[in-house]
Amino acid sequence: MSSRPKVIIIGGGFGGLFCARRFQNIGVDVTLLDRAACHVFQPLLYQCATGTLSIGQISRSLREELERHRNVTTLLGEAIELDPVARRITARRPCETTFDLEYDYLVIAAGMRQSYFGKEQYAEWAPGMKTLDDALNVRRRVFAAFEIAETLPPGPERDEWLTFAVTGAGPTGVELAGQIRELATRSLANEFHSIQPEEARVLLFDGGDRVLKAFAPALAHRAQRVLEKLGVELHLGVHVTDVRSDGVTVSSKADGTSQDFATRTVLWTAGVEAVPFARHAAEMLGAKTDHSGRISVDADLSVPGHPEVFVIGDLAGRDGLPGVAENAMQGGLHAAAAIKSDLKGTGRKDFRYRDLGSAAYISRGHALLQAGPVKLTGFLGWLGWGFIHIAFLTGVRNRFSTVATWLATIARADRSDRSFILGGSGHPGEPYTWGTPVHGGYDLTGGDQGDDKTA
Ligand SMILES: Cc1cc2nc3c(=O)[nH]c(=O)nc-3n(C[C@H](O)[C@H](O)[C@H](O)COP(=O)(O)OP(=O)(O)OC[C@H]3O[C@@H](n4cnc5c(N)ncnc54)[C@H](O)[C@@H]3O)c2cc1C
Repeated sequence: MSSRPKVIIIGGGFGGLFCARRFQNIGVDVTLLDRAACHVFQPLLYQCATGTLSIGQISRSLREELERHRNVTTLLGEAIELDPVARRITARRPCETTFDLEYDYLVIAAGMRQSYFGKEQYAEWAPGMKTLDDALNVRRRVFAAFEIAETLPPGPERDEWLTFAVTGAGPTGVELAGQIRELATRSLANEFHSIQPEEARVLLFDGGDRVLKAFAPALAHRAQRVLEKLGVELHLGVHVTDVRSDGVTVSSKADGTSQDFATRTVLWTAGVEAVPFARHAAEMLGAKTDHSGRISVDADLSVPGHPEVFVIGDLAGRDGLPGVAENAMQGGLHAAAAIKSDLKGTGRKDFRYRDLGSAAYISRGHALLQAGPVKLTGFLGWLGWGFIHIAFLTGVRNRFSTVATWLATIARADRSDRSFILGGSGHPGEPYTWGTPVHGGYDLTGGDQGDDKTA
C-alpha cells in the first residue's frame, strides 16, 4: 500500500482534467472519478445536437487521455457521499453498488447541470444541453420533427412539428437557434418532397432585453441582426411559464400578458444549478452556497475551514469567477499547484483568474470574439472562434477530424451525423418514441432513474 498522499478529483471536465494532468510525475496518487468516464467538450455540444459533429469528435475517454499519467487512476462512478472527518468519498457504480475512496486532498470539479428553476416537469418536453445524452436527445427531437412533419398533411399539426422553441438567448441558445435555421435552410432544403424545411419557424425566448448579455452591447446587437436575417424569431423580455408536449406559454415581463405557441420541440438552455453531489458536499463541509448551489471558496479556492478540499470550475463560488471553460482550466492548474506547494512546504498562492476572452458562434461565417480591447464579429470573429475551439479540443485525432468535418460542411452544407435512436428494437424498455430519452439518467438496471442527468 502506497504511503504517498492521495488526491481525489471528482469530475473530468475542464477543471478536473487540467488538474489531473498537472500531477504527472509528482509524488502523489491521484484518482479521477467521473460519472461518465469521458471528457466532454461542452462548447461544441450543439454541433453534435444538430448533426455536424459526432459524439466521438467532441469527447474523449479519460482513461485514454490520461494513459501516460502513471500515477493517475481514472474510475467510473458517481460521488454520492462525502465524509469530511474520515476524509472519505462514497461513489455509486452504474449497476447500483457502491465503493469508498479515501483522500488526503479532495478537488471537487463536478460542474453544474441544467436548471428548470424548480419546474422539473419541463424537462420531459424540453431537454437541456449539458451532456452527450442531452445532445443526442436534442438531435433526435430536431431531426425526427422534420421527418414527422413530412408524413403529415398541410395544416396546424404539421406546423407544430415545424416550429422549434429555444429558451435562453445566451451563447448556447443563440448557437442552437442559428443552427436549426441553417439546418432548415441549407442542409435539409432540397431533401424533402412534401414539406419545405426552410419554412420551419425557430423561436428564441429570453427574459432580457438583448441576446448574449455577457458580450458588449454592440457585439450582441450585431448578433441579433444576423439571427434575424437568418430567420430566427426573437422574443425578448419574456419568461417561459409553461412547457407542454404540444407547446409553450410565455409571459411578458413588461405587462404580464401571456402568449401560447404551438410547438413539438422545446429546447432549454435557460439556467444552471449545482449537481446534487455539490449540494451534499457543501452541507457536509459546512460551506456556504449561492442561490445556484455554487460553493463559497477562499482566495486559494479551498473551502473555508477545509484547506484539504478545493472547489474549482463552474462550482467555485467567488466574485468575478465566470462559468466558462477557461476559469475551470485555470482553477484546475491552481489547485494542483497549491497541493504541490503544500507538499514542498512552500506557501500557497491566491487564485487569480485571467480573462482570456469569450466567443460565440452565430451562423456560418459569423461569430463574436471578445478579448480585452479586441472585439471581432463576422468572418474574422468566426475564424477566431474556430481557432480557439480547435485549440482546446482534446485529442489530436478529434482536432483533425473536426476541422475536416467543418470544411466539408462549409463546402457542401451537408451534415453527416444525423443518425438518431428511436428505440426501435421492440424491447419493453425501449419504446418507439421521439420523446422520452432512450437511455436517460445514470442507471443500467432499469430501476429508478433519479433526478441527476449530468451525464
Ligand atoms: C452547451 C455549452 C456550451 C458552452 N460553451 C462555452 C464556450 O463557448 N466557452 C466557454 O468558455 N465555456 C463554455 N461553456 C461552459 C464550460 O463548458 C464550463 O464552464 C466548463 O465545462 C466547466 O468545467 P468544470 O470542470 O467546472 O465542469 P464540467 O466541464 O461540467 O465537468 C464536470 C464533470 O463532472 C462529472 N460529474 C458530475 N457530477 C459528478 C459526480 N457526482 N460524481 C462524479 N462525476 C461527476 C461530469 O460527468 C463532468 O464530466 C459551455 C457550456 C455548455 C453546457
